Amino acid sequence: MMGGTFDPIHYGHLVAAEGARHRFQLDKVIFIPAGHPPHKSGRQITGAHHRWIMTELAVASNAYFDTSTLEVDRPGYSYTIDTVGEMRRLYPGTELFFITGADAVLEILGWKQVDELLSMCHFIAATRPGYPLGNLKRRLAGIAADQIRQITSMEVPALAISSTDIRRRVGEGRPIKYLLPEPVESYILNRGLYR
Ligand code: ATP
Ligand code: MG
Repeated sequence: MMGGTFDPIHYGHLVAAEGARHRFQLDKVIFIPAGHPPHKSGRQITGAHHRWIMTELAVASNAYFDTSTLEVDRPGYSYTIDTVGEMRRLYPGTELFFITGADAVLEILGWKQVDELLSMCHFIAATRPGYPLGNLKRRLAGIAADQIRQITSMEVPALAISSTDIRRRVGEGRPIKYLLPEPVESYILNRGLYR
């Protein structure tokens, strides 16, 4: 599972997912756009339909990648614990991994039912410029030692790309080319998103 707001999806997300797929020999990576992310309730998020279509466009060229509308279809805030629970029911007996970036994993202490979550699946923390992952264990000191073993750091090529920066660029008329897949770029420009 690769969770995110994906507003819009970009090469940072895709590089992290492909790196995790290869390193952990994952059968597939399912990108799950958040319906109503609880931590982003402060700003206006693009409609789930647009974000899901952009995610679909971005994963089309990778046979291992897929998308899910699980969170988009679920009413209320999107909590990872609910998503992982649903995935366990959909794929019984399957070892599950949840891929995040360094910034997201450092916030994991604030996630709903984090102890239970860590007992349900592995977490992969991809490196991300600006969010050093050093001393992860000490910084997540609130998590029990046996559960911290469920979190593995993974080095990926550093891409200082963020959806926030892409949205700002579009708003200011600056280029977003080569920061995200071309079909996603075309979709943003054709639909007039982020203007
Ligand atoms: P925003 O700026 O709107 O927060 P974002 O670029 O951080 O957008 P999200 O949808 O918030 O993208 O992130 C989804 C997941 O992908 C998170 O776990 C995040 O840490 C990870 N991620 C995002 N960008 C990168 C990147 N450039 N390198 C590694 N991981 C990333
Ligand atoms: Mg983010």
